Amino acid sequence: MSFVAEFRALPLVGLVQRSLTASLSAARASLGKTDLSLTDFAHLISPAAAELLEPLSRRSQQMTRQRFGKVIRLFAPLYLSNECVNGCKYCAFSRDNRILRVTLTPEEVRHEARALVGQGFRHILLVAGEHPKHVSLDYLVQCLSLLHEEVPSLSMEIGPIDTADYRPLVRAGAEGLVVYQETYDRAVYSELHTFGPKRNFEWRMETPERAYAAGFRRLGIGALYGLGDWRLEAISVAAHAAYLLRNCWKAQLTLSVPRLRPCAGGFQPLRQFSDRELVQLVCAFRLMFPDVGLVLSTRESPRLRNGLIPLGITLMSAGSHTEPGGYTAAGQSRLHHTERGRIVEIGASEWASPDHRPANATSQFQIADERSPREVADLICQLGYEPVWKDWDVALTG
Ligand code: SF4
Repeated sequence: MSFVAEFRALPLVGLVQRSLTASLSAARASLGKTDLSLTDFAHLISPAAAELLEPLSRRSQQMTRQRFGKVIRLFAPLYLSNECVNGCKYCAFSRDNRILRVTLTPEEVRHEARALVGQGFRHILLVAGEHPKHVSLDYLVQCLSLLHEEVPSLSMEIGPIDTADYRPLVRAGAEGLVVYQETYDRAVYSELHTFGPKRNFEWRMETPERAYAAGFRRLGIGALYGLGDWRLEAISVAAHAAYLLRNCWKAQLTLSVPRLRPCAGGFQPLRQFSDRELVQLVCAFRLMFPDVGLVLSTRESPRLRNGLIPLGITLMSAGSHTEPGGYTAAGQSRLHHTERGRIVEIGASEWASPDHRPANATSQFQIADERSPREVADLICQLGYEPVWKDWDVALTG
């Protein structure tokens, strides 16, 4: 049975209700348990458990240290392309946004990767919009083949494809696949994804299972917080994670907690999700899933990221650019607009003044932590943790 079947049967509304109405003593009882059910998880993210944030974070810190040591793994995203055929209302890359676009050549991708390796990174996440022509399977295989020798650990965040198409990516050196459901609320999903293959909610939901069947041995999931009710998203992610741990047990699993950031298109969050609630959620995930990696990106401010390091996070991005060519200005000479999938050269007037000359492709979203990777690594050391630049050691794990 796939997760989709399990998700259809999940009493999601009831669990959200259990969370909203949980008593302090129910939250305290769940906090004291070692083997948590989904109901316990709902209690831990309840308004009542917000009163228990101190003991909750203490327990989360303790468990994280026990399982992972005092180590924070660092990675960087490398954007290959911001072309996309989908209409996602909350994303700058959405097809109908008039933004500056480019797809890097495989050589340019290597150039960007070398810049990241030069900064210390050994784990790179390749990110691309969904575009069968510009971001074809052949193109992705070429990029991976070039990087494989130089970057020890490669993950991908790309449009979902089928198992047979994932296999050549694994053969070319990809180890990890990240796919966020964005929102697990079907109605909100349908409202926000206006056209394109991404409209298929269940196909997306089954992506980690297809990736696992193709041989990916690291899977990353999550919701994009700010679209649906955060408790509904969190309970769904927890159910999804529990399913993957049971059924895709040879893979390492990571959970991310991305919150919406300002981006081209000007989309505003539909729901609030405060810093304090984010901290509560990270700790609840840790108690529910002691061995799962928890990821925090540069979407969050330096202050919040610093505060979350000792509480349960195990992986962080640093010094991120969310546009193709962001690290070396690669691809600058080919910037263009796309109108309904057709490439349109940038008009002369837009290039007329040097002040208005676009320097880079449009980014997917604004980052909030602009510190360099070195500054982030130094801060991790100051907090008594060890920054580790490589996520996965093939030599050690076979
Ligand atoms: S969220 Fe992904 S699929 Fe949607 S527009 Fe952005 S890049 Fe494309």
